[in-house]
Order: sequence, then structure tokens, then C-alpha cells
Amino acid sequence: MRFSDFNVWTPDSDGLIVYNTLTGALLTFNRRTANEVLAAMQQDNITAVPKRYLLDFARDGVVIEDSYDELSVVKARNMLGRTQNELILSVMLTMACNFRCRYCFQSRGTRPKAMGHEVEHRVVSLISREARKKDRVSIDWYGGEPLLRFSQLVRMNNAIAGECKRCDTEYLLSVTTNGYLLTPEVIKYLSGFNVTHLQITLDGPAETHDFSRPLANGDGTFTTILSNIRRAVEAGVPVVVRVNVWKPNVGRVSELYDILEENGLKNKVNVVTKPVLSSEANPCQANCLPASEAAQLNIETYRNAATKGWWSCRNWANYRDMSSVSSTQSGNSLSTPTGTSTSAGSASRSRKVWAVSSETARSGSKSRLGHVGSGRTLFRFRNAECASSCLSVWAVAA
Ligand code: SF4
Repeated sequence: MRFSDFNVWTPDSDGLIVYNTLTGALLTFNRRTANEVLAAMQQDNITAVPKRYLLDFARDGVVIEDSYDELSVVKARNMLGRTQNELILSVMLTMACNFRCRYCFQSRGTRPKAMGHEVEHRVVSLISREARKKDRVSIDWYGGEPLLRFSQLVRMNNAIAGECKRCDTEYLLSVTTNGYLLTPEVIKYLSGFNVTHLQITLDGPAETHDFSRPLANGDGTFTTILSNIRRAVEAGVPVVVRVNVWKPNVGRVSELYDILEENGLKNKVNVVTKPVLSSEANPCQANCLPASEAAQLNIETYRNAATKGWWSCRNWANYRDMSSVSSTQSGNSLSTPTGTSTSAGSASRSRKVWAVSSETARSGSKSRLGHVGSGRTLFRFRNAECASSCLSVWAVAA
């Protein structure tokens, strides 16, 4: 056994964080348990790792068999990206917005532009042409605020969906929206399509959210957005709640989890936190968090949410708090099959297990598709051979 070449570790004020950039595993250790792990990693001495951690380390790819070729996994991923026959586009309908978020160019008096008829026609033609050659088309409707142009979105979306249906191409859509104009009419329309998610931002509880994300007239937006999210979820439309974190709302993110729970949204929405970054268009250095602080905050958010019983968030699907691994738990055997439940406490997640789940014959000119999937993700390939060759590498990883 040896340590993975893809481990990154950093001591923090609470102990130690270990992240594996290949598997996405994120492990945290408290102060009491950090030192022994840190010493083993710094000395590259696997025999110094306390035995109780070895099983989890092996499942998470933090330690690997000597013969395991991690580079081949990287190559397989690359192949995955190249063989998926999918068109993925973000379509920006307008730069205009009904909000004046403090960290956005909108609050700096920029003159907004919108997509005109000619561009609309050319975009739909391009997507229609490509749809005939693809197995899947994925569009994210984006802005500014795309729902300000709802009638244009409907027109374009109907044309694209119709063309995809005509040529037997799967059509997925998502909308990145501030959520204010997510009326019952809009939700009803969207629920008729295969919506992967609506991304809607809530910057903490009402007080901090309304400070960061007011309407153009200065009014608050939190209450309306929250009730719109509830309506969307009730209609079966998946929602990702994004939280932009900067100094004005730092430390308030965990309150949002409580509010979502009180509104029946616990584990029904996916919450992701992102730091507000300073840029030329958004010169907010004074209010932005330094990268290290933002990363620390993410860890705290994961810990908090896991403690509160949130498990649905993809960002911490691979998160484990190793402080809860007791010294009496056995870590001697590394031959336990993957995919079984883990021993690291309530925040633990079993490792993804990859398997060819099916082959599907498609009509028309489309080739047979190979499917490789885990519990959450299904990758599709141009043909079963591509799927099998990727699978053989993934099988080693699993
Ligand atoms: S909702 Fe989005 S586009 Fe509109 S002001 Fe806020 S950040 Fe900018």
C-alpha cells in the first residue's frame, strides 16, 4: 500500500483537512486525531497511519495498492469527456436584471443588452443542426435574469425541444435565475420538460440576503424567492440553492439551513456555497474573503450541515468527519468490498461503485449506447465498447 499521489492536506485551526483531488474525498480530523495522521503523511510513512483509519483511507483512495495506476483513471476520465456525444450550452438571453446585487456589475450602471431576433434564430438553428448528430442536448438558460425574457425562453425552448424530439435526441435544461419571477405559470411550463435543476441564490437568512440581493428599487427579495422555491420543489422541479459567501453574510450560512428545514425543504434542495470573488467587473476586495478563509468556511458549512442531518448536498457526498472513527473500529482488513456502508459516522458516504447498468438500442441513425453509472450519475457513451473500456479502468478505481 502507498499514499495516493493526489492527496492534498492542510492543518487548520480545528485539526487537519485531507483532500484527494482524484476521488473528491474530503476528510477532516479534529485536533486530538490530527497529529498522528499528519506525521504519517508528511513522512510518507503508511505504516504510521493508525489502523482504524486504513479502511476509510482505502475506500476514499487516500491510500492505494502499490500496483494501482492512478494516471489511468485520469486518462479514463478524459476519455469519458471525449466520448460523451452531448452538446452543452449556456444561452444568455439578456444582461438585464431586476436585482441590484451588491457584488454584481448590475449595480454599477452597466447598460444591459438582450438577445435580438436574428441571434435567436441563429442560436436555434445551430442547436437544431447539432441535435441531429448528438445523443443529448443540455441547455442552461442564463442571464442577467433569463426570466425577464420568459416569452423568448419559451419560444426558443419549444423549438429546441421539438427538434430534439423529432430526431430522437434527449433534451435537458436548467435555468440559472434569481428566482423572483418564478411564478406558478413559469413553474408549470418548466415542469413539462426534463429540468435538471434551477439554480437560485439565497445569501443566508432574510437580513443578509436582502442586504446583498435587493430588487432594483431596493426592496427585499428573500420571502418571495423562498416561497417560489417551495412551489418549484412541490411541482417536482429540482432546485440548487446557491449561497454566495462574503463578509456581510459570513457566519450566517448555517441559519439558512434551519430556515430551509422550517419550510419543508430539508434534503429536498441541494445547497452549494461559493465565495464571492473580486474581479474587474466586481471590485469588492474589501468584502471578499481571502481564499483560505473561504475554504475554511466551506469545511465548517459541511460540518454544520452534516450535524443538522443534511445529506443531499452533492458537494459533501464524499465528506467524512474522521474524528468520529473510534479506536475500537477495525481497520485491519482492506479487502472489504466497496459500496458497503462505511464506519465513519453519520456523515459518511459509501464510495461510488461503477458498473455497466444497461445497453440501450436507439432507433434511427443513433448508435447503441453503453451506460456506465453509479448511484447518482449515469454516463453515456457512443457505443458499448467505449463504455466497457472506461469501465475496466473504473473497476480498478472502485
Ligand atoms: S440576480 Fe444575478 S445578474 Fe441579477 S444583479 Fe444579482 S447577481 Fe447580478
